[in-house]
Amino acid sequence: MMFAWLRERRRRAIRDQPFPPVWNDILARNVRQTVWLDDDERDRLRGWVAVFLAEKSFEGCRGMEITDEVRVSIAGQAGLVALGLPGEFFARLQSVLVYPGDYLARKSTALEGGGELEWQEERLGETWSGGSMVLSWPRVLEGGRLRDGPRSVVIHECAHAIDMLDGEADGIPPLAASRPEWVAALDACRVRFDEALDEGRSVAFDDYAAESPGEFFAVASECFFQDPHRLFRFDKTLYGLLEQVWRQDPKARVPLQRGK
Ligand SMILES: [Zn+2]
Repeated sequence: MMFAWLRERRRRAIRDQPFPPVWNDILARNVRQTVWLDDDERDRLRGWVAVFLAEKSFEGCRGMEITDEVRVSIAGQAGLVALGLPGEFFARLQSVLVYPGDYLARKSTALEGGGELEWQEERLGETWSGGSMVLSWPRVLEGGRLRDGPRSVVIHECAHAIDMLDGEADGIPPLAASRPEWVAALDACRVRFDEALDEGRSVAFDDYAAESPGEFFAVASECFFQDPHRLFRFDKTLYGLLEQVWRQDPKARVPLQRGK
């Protein structure tokens, strides 16, 4: 365990290094939202990316090669999420595993009367509370280039990583855990979302959010960052609750008519 002051001194030294121009090009290409940041935000994002890359390990799976393009694209999207939370580097996260595509995860469940049922499930990303994030590279690019509507696997998994800082992915990040009124208000948003789905009304984000409170928080957070005006129109209360947790207001910078 490292002393906080020592860690901060090391991080400051990393932030003070010049940011490689080739990394800037990668951010511009694969983290499209960076074009809407102001100078101060862009500086802070670069510093965050440099620290994140120095502190986390990356591992390629199924033949995936880990290049600067891969590392900086992932760190840049994660940095957008953390922009309002200085010093937040997803403390429990140690390694990022990247697949060249969606991947199959083995699932199993115990059967009544003994035995196990096993099956495979296709995934585009996941976060383990033990400290790993798993991502499908094409999905990282889709989200970063805003080509998949409000979806972003990196933002989704970062939301889980924040949520898991205090244990379970229960949809209540530590910043809100001590505020029962926030928890109750988010719960009410979830009930409204489920009702809208039941009634066949259109909703702002993927119905995967209905899976659990943890998934609701993660999917709604994707929309908050990726298509903030859409989320604001859909549910202003939900937008406001996420704004309190993420401590930023993406709709203030993302243009209303977003170019594709
Ligand atoms: Zn999830």
